[in-house]
Amino acid sequence: MSVREEFDDWAAEGRDRGMEDRHWHTAKHVLARMPVEAGETILDLGTGSGYALRALRETKGAGRGYGLDGAPEMVRNAQSYTDNPEIAYLVGDFDELPFADDAVDHVFSMEAFYYARDPHHTLEELARVLRPGGTFFCAVNYYEENVHSHDWQDRISVPMTRWSRTEYREAFRDAGFHVASQDNVPDREIEIPDESEFPTDEWDTRREMVERYRTYGTLLTVGVVP
Ligand code: SAH
Repeated sequence: MSVREEFDDWAAEGRDRGMEDRHWHTAKHVLARMPVEAGETILDLGTGSGYALRALRETKGAGRGYGLDGAPEMVRNAQSYTDNPEIAYLVGDFDELPFADDAVDHVFSMEAFYYARDPHHTLEELARVLRPGGTFFCAVNYYEENVHSHDWQDRISVPMTRWSRTEYREAFRDAGFHVASQDNVPDREIEIPDESEFPTDEWDTRREMVERYRTYGTLLTVGVVP
């Protein structure tokens, strides 16, 4: 199945908003850390419901915002949630970013980068479209150290890349980024039931659920273009 087929279905089922609700627990902390100045141009890679651009405009006065997504239904939904003329949602693929060299100030991506057909090439594309000093805030919950994410690929038809923390840093450097930081952003909001409620439908033990959300949370790797 293509990105379009898989994620158009998700959009039609309203899962774009569902993801926004869940991802917001950690995404808001990532967005708050971005060094966005008023008027700067932002790209949201794999935008889903498009919440990141709405938030960056409201909180930091970001200028133009482009939300790129391979699923036309996601783009249609995202567009319907805002009438801000500075924000545009575009259908496109991570393989080929529809921007000129140095055209973008900062890039955000949440739970999307690992769907890239060739993630090394996508990093090179990001380094190309970002201006010198521009940043890429790459947030993922699917990665090697997060053992609780390993079975996700079984449920999604689009091939996913599962890098470790080290592999993220190496790939960023290979593509020409400096790695400014890398850390785990915990999800402190998801409700973790009392010990007596386990096992639940999803979790065998409370310890595993705590590890998944409070310890691993979201892996954030921040790249800066020299
Ligand atoms: N960032 C949003 C959505 C995450 S879901 C959030 O945090 O909720 C991943 C999104 O990336 C989907 O909307 C999917 O259509 C898009 N996507 C996945 N692979 C892609 C690719 N190769 N090119 C463009 N978009 C892609």
